[in-house]
Amino acid sequence: MSGLDLPEIVNASDVPAYSDTVDVLVIGAGIGGCCAAVEAAAAGASVLVLERSAAAGGTTCMAGGHFYLGGGTAVQVATGHPDSAEEMAKYITAVSLEPEPEKIKAYCDDSVEHFDWLESLGFQFERSYYPEKAVIQPQTQGLMYTGNEKVWPFSEMAVPAPRGHKVPKPGDTGGAGMVIDLLVKRLGEQGVPIRYEVGARKLVVEEVDGRRVVVGAYWKAGADEGYIRASSVVIAAGGFVMNPDMVAEYVPQLAEKPFTLGSTYDDGLGIRMGASVGADLKHMDQAFITAPVYPPSILLTGIIVNKEGKRFVAEDSYHSRTSGFVMDQTDRAAYLIVDEAHMQRPDFPLAPFIDGWETVEEMADGLGLDRETLAATLNRYNEHAAIGEDPDFHKSAEFLAAQDTGPWAAFDMTLGKALYAGFTVGGMATSVDGQVLTADGEAIGGLYAAGACAANLAQDGKGYASGTQLGEGSYFGRRVGRHAASSVREPGGVTYQ
Ligand SMILES: Cc1cc2nc3c(=O)[nH]c(=O)nc-3n(C[C@H](O)[C@H](O)[C@H](O)COP(=O)(O)OP(=O)(O)OC[C@H]3O[C@@H](n4cnc5c(N)ncnc54)[C@H](O)[C@@H]3O)c2cc1C
Repeated sequence: MSGLDLPEIVNASDVPAYSDTVDVLVIGAGIGGCCAAVEAAAAGASVLVLERSAAAGGTTCMAGGHFYLGGGTAVQVATGHPDSAEEMAKYITAVSLEPEPEKIKAYCDDSVEHFDWLESLGFQFERSYYPEKAVIQPQTQGLMYTGNEKVWPFSEMAVPAPRGHKVPKPGDTGGAGMVIDLLVKRLGEQGVPIRYEVGARKLVVEEVDGRRVVVGAYWKAGADEGYIRASSVVIAAGGFVMNPDMVAEYVPQLAEKPFTLGSTYDDGLGIRMGASVGADLKHMDQAFITAPVYPPSILLTGIIVNKEGKRFVAEDSYHSRTSGFVMDQTDRAAYLIVDEAHMQRPDFPLAPFIDGWETVEEMADGLGLDRETLAATLNRYNEHAAIGEDPDFHKSAEFLAAQDTGPWAAFDMTLGKALYAGFTVGGMATSVDGQVLTADGEAIGGLYAAGACAANLAQDGKGYASGTQLGEGSYFGRRVGRHAASSVREPGGVTYQ
C-alpha cells in the first residue's frame, strides 16, 4: 500500500463528545449502503446513514440497472430459461480470479430470494427476454445474457443461462436510480435518517478485550464537525476510480487514456479509511475497462488481431473480456476486421472505423501489419469458419462466418484510439457477512464494508458480467446489515462478535 494517503485514526479517549450514538452507522447511501441500512433497521437496530453528497445514489444512479441474478428467478422461469444455483455457482467460480466459495454459494443459493426481495421494494423486472448480443437491453426487456456464459471454455464448464436482469427503465444509463429511490423510501418508512452533505472522514477506535475495534467515525459537513459512536460501522462509500493517485498506483491502464466512470465521490476514501485500521485490500490492480464493438453483433463474425497480425481472443466474448485481452497485447493495440458481407457501421462507434481496402495485402500495409501473417490468420479462420469450426478460440457457431469477400474494413480497438471507459473493482477483503478482514483473515471488530469498496465477486474485467456489482452490492449489503444488527447486544452499546 505504498503511497496510499491514509486518514488518521482517532482514539475514542480523544473524542470530546459524540453528536449521536447508534447501533449501526452506514457511510454512503448507494446500493451497498442503502441495502445494509434497510436490513439493519428491519432487524431492529438503530441506524444512521451519512451521505457526502446532496442526494442518495452515487455511482448507482449512473448504472444502467443490470442485476446479475439466477438460479430460477421469476423472469428466467417466465421466459423459459432453466437455471439452477449449482450451475450459476459453477459459472461464477469459473470466471473468478480467486473464487471465494462461501460467498459464491451464498450468492447463488439466495439469488431467487434476493430477486424477490428487490421486487418487494416496489418494482417488477419485466417478464421478457432480449435475445440479441448487446451491451444492455435497449428497452425494458427484463433478461439477457450479460457475461461469458456462452463463451468457451465457460460454455463447457457450466450450463449457460441468461442472468442479466435489467430494471424496467429504457436506455443505457440511470436505470438503477429507480431502486435507490425505492430504498430511500423504505428507509423513510423505517424511520432511518439519511444525513446529506455529511462526509465521514476518519474512524474512531478503542481497545476492547485487548483488541482494537472500530467504535465510530469522525464526520465533517462544511464548517461543522463531530463524532458518531456506533456498535458497527459500515463503509459503503464506493470505489476509487476518481482518485488519480490511487488509479495511477493500482490500475495504470485506467490512468492512461480511458474515461473514468463513476461519481465524484468515488475517491477511495472509504477504502483508505478501512486500510487505516488494517483492512486487507484485494484486486486493486484490476479494472473493468471496455470499448464494446457491438452492437451490431454481426461485427463479431470478424476477427480481432494484434500488432503481430494474430488473433488472441474469441471475438464473441463479453466486451470487457475482449478489452481485457486487448490490454495484454503489444502497445495495447488491436484491430477488428470484417469483410464487405459482414460490415455494418455501429450507431455509436466506440472503436473508430479506420478504412476499407480492396485486398488483404493493402489492408496489412494500411494497418502496418505483416502481410503474410495477416493473410495466414485470415485464411485459417476462414477455412474453419466455413465449416462452422474455430479450433483456435472456439468462437460459437452463431458468430462464425468466413470473411472472404473483399473489400475488407478495420476498426481500431487500440487503447487511446477507441473510446475506452472503466471503473475499479478492488476493495477491502471481507467475510461472507461483510466483516472487514486483515491480511491474516481476522475480522476487524465493529467494521463492515459493502458495495464497490468491498472485494466480492467482481474481480477483474475478463471475468466480469454486467450486473455483478449491483447484484453483489445489494446482496452482500443486506448480509452486512443483518450481521451488523446482530452484533448489537445493548442498544447504543458497544459489543462485538
Ligand atoms: C455508467 C455506469 C454503468 C454501470 N452499470 C452497471 C450495471 O448495470 N450493473 C452493475 O452491476 N453495475 C453497474 N455499474 C457499476 C455499479 O454502478 C457500481 O459498482 C455500484 O453502483 C457501486 O455501488 P456503491 O453503493 O458501492 O457505491 P455508490 O453508488 O457510489 O454509493 C456510495 C455513496 O457513498 C457516498 N460517499 C462516498 N464517500 C463518502 C464519505 N466519506 N462519507 C459519506 N458518504 C460518502 C457517495 O457520495 C455515494 O453516494 C455501472 C457503473 C457505471 C459508472
